[in-house]
Amino acid sequence: MDMIKNALTVDVEDYFQVAALAEAVEPKDWGTMEYRVEANTDRLLGLFDERDTKATFFTLGWVAERSPNLVRRIQQAGHEIASHGYSHQLIYNQTPKVFREETRKSK
Ligand SMILES: [Zn+2]
Repeated sequence: MDMIKNALTVDVEDYFQVAALAEAVEPKDWGTMEYRVEANTDRLLGLFDERDTKATFFTLGWVAERSPNLVRRIQQAGHEIASHGYSHQLIYNQTPKVFREETRKSK
């Protein structure tokens, strides 16, 4: 991989997983929501490719499980893959045990 010369990060998560909607959409209902993250991330990959720009993609384990080929496309385009946890829980609300589980599962 070429050295990344810019600092640009992307959260690979869907609109219904953000903290602002946590009270409106429970994680157990995520699977029933319209899944947009794959198409949206592909749009970003296209834009970054046009501009020859690399980024670090902080990817939710929940998304990676559903879209393993998306993670492969990100990697194959020369970007860096990083963990954004498994289920987008706020870190300061996690016990050490939950943090360990989230980290392990997302890896
Ligand atoms: Zn996020």
